[in-house]
Amino acid sequence: MKIAFIGLGNMGGPMAANLARAGHEVTGFDTAGVEIEGVTMAASAADSVRGAEVAITMLPNGDILRRVASEIIPAMNAGAVHLDCSTVDVDSARAVGEQALAAGLSALDAPVSGGVGGATDGTLTFMVGGDEAGFEKARPLFDIMGKKAVHCGPSGNGQAAKICNNMILGITMIGTCEAFALADKLGLDRQAMFDVVSTSSGSSWSMNTYCPAPGVGPKSPADNDYKPGFAADLMLKDLRLAMQAATGADADTPLGQAAADLYARFVEEEDGSGRDFSAMLPRFASRGRG
Ligand code: NAD
Repeated sequence: MKIAFIGLGNMGGPMAANLARAGHEVTGFDTAGVEIEGVTMAASAADSVRGAEVAITMLPNGDILRRVASEIIPAMNAGAVHLDCSTVDVDSARAVGEQALAAGLSALDAPVSGGVGGATDGTLTFMVGGDEAGFEKARPLFDIMGKKAVHCGPSGNGQAAKICNNMILGITMIGTCEAFALADKLGLDRQAMFDVVSTSSGSSWSMNTYCPAPGVGPKSPADNDYKPGFAADLMLKDLRLAMQAATGADADTPLGQAAADLYARFVEEEDGSGRDFSAMLPRFASRGRG
């Protein structure tokens, strides 16, 4: 398949390389002028999509996505698919989807979970909004770049699924870290705490798979001095997107708001910037109630 790939950063680079390695003809564009093995670089975003059956974007935010979409949509052939894998606000995803549909394209918003490791290993999970025909056309590409793709409904629903998932993740990580810090002060051993909670009703992915306590549970960023992993800054981005969506949809999300406020403080005023999002544990552990 002839594929364009725009935004070849930490995630997009390895995703494009995997598509090229699988035998697809990949033309790329990135403003940073990167080189990716097996990918032919174009001089502009519009140049990269000419003649492509699928154009993939993997960009930092909704404003950049809107700008790039305005450049590429008019240059794409009718019937082609615009597949956006960036994490952006639901409104930008829906606006770009409508623009693509109006130009006779299929449009999919397909944010991912799995991080840079999943992008490199081809084991991402895609949460996909958009039309069924586009989803079927993109399915072989999801199979190369990931291990699972869930069609969540119309345009924007992929982003909705992503931010709801990550809102739960942010809240459970904070809850898990808070509970470890409380357990410390009550004299409860962290290993005992893990052994109980990971097999009890307080269990979650944050505790069982990504335990924030070093030396406890499966290997996680906590065992590597909280190097990301999934950076606290990216969690903050996703929580802000969730709160933006909640405001727009008039949804009551008090714990999501509390998580967004805590990560904002952690990233912007404390030592959280550049650390994994599970570094909330040393943050809580170093504090008292007051
Ligand atoms: P990144 O900053 O490494 O990559 C973004 C790339 O886009 C950069 O190479 C940049 O030069 C390029 N770019 C910016 N503006 C451009 C433009 N106008 N035209 C072409 N290229 C442009 O970011 P990333 O970590 O690869 O993340 C990409 C997206 O994936 C984000 O939306 C992020 O939230 C999401 N995401 C990231 C992770 C992760 O663990 N890094 C996990 C899941 C989802």
